[in-house]
Amino acid sequence: MTNSLPEMAEIWQQTLNWQPTDLQQAQFQQLYELILEGNSQLNLTRITEPQEFWEKHLWDSLRGIAPQQQFISSLQTGASVVDIGTGAGFPGVPVAIVAPNSTITLVDSTRKKINFIDKILSELTLTNGQTIVARAEEIGQQPQHRQKYDIALIRAVGTASACAEYTLPLLKQGGLAVIYRGTWTEEETTTLDNAVKQLGGKVELIENFTTPLSNSVRHCLYLRKVGTTPANFPRAVGVPTQKPL
Ligand code: SAH
Repeated sequence: MTNSLPEMAEIWQQTLNWQPTDLQQAQFQQLYELILEGNSQLNLTRITEPQEFWEKHLWDSLRGIAPQQQFISSLQTGASVVDIGTGAGFPGVPVAIVAPNSTITLVDSTRKKINFIDKILSELTLTNGQTIVARAEEIGQQPQHRQKYDIALIRAVGTASACAEYTLPLLKQGGLAVIYRGTWTEEETTTLDNAVKQLGGKVELIENFTTPLSNSVRHCLYLRKVGTTPANFPRAVGVPTQKPL
């Protein structure tokens, strides 16, 4: 028998001005159980205690799509979203749960992880989710993905410059990339500014906050695609990390 996730209705309300429906709460619980079960074979996450899972996976995933503590409005009406390096499904699966009118494309280079995500989508009946086994550097050059998304999410995949190079080519003009980080410094902003400029974007907002249970430091970087990304980006597989912008 598995533990139950806490509901945390007041915290959702205070921090995101939102509360899950009964269906969404049930889907969070199913997701938690599937991850605990999958963990024995796939080594998906070290975060397995219910409160910690709630905070570091669910709350953290959703805080990123709520700059200034309000969900990005296009997510409710219907946006096309891509999650790069989704791993065990974060932040993309919680986003698919709370934004049923949006389409979420979950991308990871590891086939085993994507097979697991396919199982999650089917067991949670998340018909607004789809998966791709690919590297960000590859789909960024494919016409069916390049400049096709309204929102690109990326958590714990690489340096901020590499994350910018993975996400910005995928965005339509006017689209938004959300880079999830732990710590962040002023000096890093200078490097990022320079990278983002070369990719046709601008750094629109950097938010700094703490998680609601353990008060851990978090940052989210919001990049706006204001122009077009030059054809040479993203560079070949591995180059964004080996020669960061
Ligand atoms: N976003 C998840 C997982 C982070 S681990 C979370 O925050 O919990 C990083 C994941 O990114 C791994 O599953 C890895 O396979 C994937 N990954 C790393 N580089 C990638 C790339 N260039 N393109 C696609 N996926 C990548």
